[in-house]
Amino acid sequence: MLGNEAIARGAIEAGVGVAAAYPGTPSSEIIGSLEEVAEDLGIYVEWSVNEKVATELALAAALAGVRSLTAMKHVGLNVAADAIVSSAYTGVSGGFVIVSADDPSMWSSQNEQDNRIYGMLSYIPVFEPENPSEAKELTIKLFNLSSELKHPMILRTTTRVSHVRGPVRLGRIAKISRNGVFKPDPRFALLPSNARRNRIELLKRWDAIKSAVESFEFNRVYGDGRILIISPSTTFSYVYELIQANSLEDKLRVIKLSSVYPVPEKMILREASHVEKIVIIEELEPLVEMQVRDLLHRERVNIEVVGKPLLERAFEMNMNRVAKLLTHTTGIAIPIVESSDREKIELPPRPPVLCSGCPYRPLFFELKKFIARERIKPIFSGDIGCYSLVYYKPFQAQDTIIEMGGSIGLGNGFSVVLPDSIVISVIGDSTLFHAGIPPLINAVYNMHPQIILVLDNLSTAMTGHQPSPSNPTRGRRILIEDLARAIGVKYVKVVDPFNAEEVRKAFREALKVVREDREVALIIARRKCALLAYDDMIKSGEEIVPYYVDLETCIGCGICYNLFACPAIIPRDDKKAFIDPEMCIGCGACVISCPFNAIKPVKQVDQEKLKKYWF
Ligand code: SF4
Ligand code: SF4
Repeated sequence: MLGNEAIARGAIEAGVGVAAAYPGTPSSEIIGSLEEVAEDLGIYVEWSVNEKVATELALAAALAGVRSLTAMKHVGLNVAADAIVSSAYTGVSGGFVIVSADDPSMWSSQNEQDNRIYGMLSYIPVFEPENPSEAKELTIKLFNLSSELKHPMILRTTTRVSHVRGPVRLGRIAKISRNGVFKPDPRFALLPSNARRNRIELLKRWDAIKSAVESFEFNRVYGDGRILIISPSTTFSYVYELIQANSLEDKLRVIKLSSVYPVPEKMILREASHVEKIVIIEELEPLVEMQVRDLLHRERVNIEVVGKPLLERAFEMNMNRVAKLLTHTTGIAIPIVESSDREKIELPPRPPVLCSGCPYRPLFFELKKFIARERIKPIFSGDIGCYSLVYYKPFQAQDTIIEMGGSIGLGNGFSVVLPDSIVISVIGDSTLFHAGIPPLINAVYNMHPQIILVLDNLSTAMTGHQPSPSNPTRGRRILIEDLARAIGVKYVKVVDPFNAEEVRKAFREALKVVREDREVALIIARRKCALLAYDDMIKSGEEIVPYYVDLETCIGCGICYNLFACPAIIPRDDKKAFIDPEMCIGCGACVISCPFNAIKPVKQVDQEKLKKYWF
């Protein structure tokens, strides 16, 4: 099972009744897996509009005694933090597990914050699994512990656990109940007078949590010797593999930690009494190291403690990094693991690109031409989503990418301090619903002129096509144009990104609104994600008609492959273009890119008929 699937399975075996999340790599498969079985098992599963909203829903269920789960990527916890920190104050009635899937090395994220630190901030204990099997068991354990101690629990994974596959032993599926009973209690209403009392109760519960982790079966001791390594779950895997590979079991004693905050103090003191030196090997921030140093100082235990140098805090651990750290800190030479031949293969660089048929491509192609014609040099305030890829050549249309919903917010600031510039804020449909509405209201209310380009592909495409409120296939559809008009945006235009004339007209009008009226102009470019449209066409038995380049007409100017840049269009040795029929999904968008009309469908296509798949 994938680590995330194992967490979902653990939640099912623990009797989860409610699960809600906003998608984000590497966390998305947890809710995706639960969604697949929700109806059969009677679990309420929801893709909410953002992590805070998902947390609030799951917390309410837990306050009413129903076991609930919310899952998010690490930066999602920043969005949900308000609700999460307060959940430690209210406590819960049923088990409440918050999964934070962190992304060391930033494989698909804007930063690599170590969310274990949220445990320290919020007084919510943090636990880490070592592999998918332990992820499942730990999830069950945390639901039980949360129910018993009436306190939320954070299950922290990393990409290496969430996205790795491993054997998982299946247990019995618990009886699932999603019917709660809510008994009003002053502790649930965080008015200052109640919150002050809750703070004291929270600290008492924290004492109980500290006791519970002392006998936590997922913390284990291995090996022997006069050096003690303390290592949390994922890093422990590397440590222990190296110890076994080099037969160092009698030289190195290891505590494998699952409860990373708080750590089991008695266990650490007991093991420390056998050794002369403690080495702490952990990924990212020195959270365990800080706790161990503090503990030894408090208990006046005088043992050398070695942690990580500052520069070692960046990026995820791997076998070689751990081998180097062990050699450096223990004085025992541990050979660097030779990379396999496979790892040595140098793959050709493959820049990230928008998919074949992506509706964003013709839109940005036209936008760049428009900008050149108008001789403006806009500031592109960008956001998180597939369209982040237009940061790269040939479009280079994202000057800032900070956080979900940040584009309009930063656009507000740019419009204040750079009044002579044209600000183009770019945001997706799902991202707008996630966190883009408050800055949009601010832009209208405080009159921050900017062109807001909403890329509505009817999906949360980047994370695997989870639903967005703009998607009519699930629940009610919320039209962005209705929302924008209700907020007070006067210029709202919906365009088909494949319709170049419509797109050009909208850009012209929007530029006028921003320049002359000094107001927000909002353009919604609506067309379904190409992968979804393609999928629908295949499922409906619709013929996919690829396009080709007429070599008699093509002069090899390179506009289609250099400036339009569909990955299906490839330059030939003579610089003329070639369309790979295997990659072409027959969208026809590239036709507009060729000034010589050399791009044609291999047979006649009725684009009007195909539109039903794209909207
Ligand atoms: S029709 Fe053109 S733009 Fe569409 S997928 Fe094929 S090559 Fe790419
Ligand atoms: S834009 Fe047209 S003429 Fe230029 S390389 Fe492509 S197909 Fe050939």
